[in-house]
Amino acid sequence: MSPRTAEEVARKTAVVLPAAGTVTVIPRDNLRIHTYEAPETAVFVNSHILETEDRLIVVDTQLLRPHAEEFRRYADSLSKPIDRVIITHSHPDHWFGCEYFRDVPIHALAEVADGITGGGEAMIQAYAPIFGDAITETVTAPEHVIRPGTGTVDGVRLVYEKVDGGEAGVNLVIELPDQRVLLAQDMVYNRVHVFLQQKEMGPWLAHLRRYLEGEYDFVLSGHGLPANMQALADMVGYLETAETALAESNDVESLKKHLVGKYPLYRGDYILDISGRYLYGGE
Ligand SMILES: [Zn+2]
Repeated sequence: MSPRTAEEVARKTAVVLPAAGTVTVIPRDNLRIHTYEAPETAVFVNSHILETEDRLIVVDTQLLRPHAEEFRRYADSLSKPIDRVIITHSHPDHWFGCEYFRDVPIHALAEVADGITGGGEAMIQAYAPIFGDAITETVTAPEHVIRPGTGTVDGVRLVYEKVDGGEAGVNLVIELPDQRVLLAQDMVYNRVHVFLQQKEMGPWLAHLRRYLEGEYDFVLSGHGLPANMQALADMVGYLETAETALAESNDVESLKKHLVGKYPLYRGDYILDISGRYLYGGE
């Protein structure tokens, strides 16, 4: 099946889909990092490309077809072979776009691959009424297993960490120690409201405080633009506020009042409405 173009998708779907994402490029020694941030419709989700001297490593593949397709075209424009795709966790905004990378080996932690293989179809069924043809119809699951520890691709060291108790049940965090980069993905949202599905923030906060003891020049988030250590400190503050707000709230309106009141300039407050369905049930 050939991928549909953004125009074809836009014609067939009921929702309005701004096609263009925002690309940021960070040059480091022996490495360029490209970040593609989706527009609001797709919760500002980030896909990254780690461009080594001769290869590309893609991290996460977008939620909606127009953005996944545009991101793939951007990767192809760099004119280097894609060595692999890495999927950091099983939430749909990070792997639905894998259908555009079926020609590339797709890697993930075993728990993440199992989550997509076992739960992917249900996720597609849940999102189809909202996004119609703008999401994938089939599960493209990772087939290569990442084990925590250090790997090397084209001379660049990647340290893989399996993190429990964060934004998803299991999140992959990648450290690039030689370039002083932390690819935290959804452990950090940068100036975007956070998807919350639990009331206990202790384990998540403990991981963030541990990263704050490191020394990174850049911190790459799963939602929101690339940042530095400040994004870690901001995320700690946000989750501490959220923990208090969750303890004092019995519904999503109250939760939003707390968090939007404290963070009025953060984007994507509708992500809190989505969170409310998980926290308080209902539609
Ligand atoms: Zn996400």
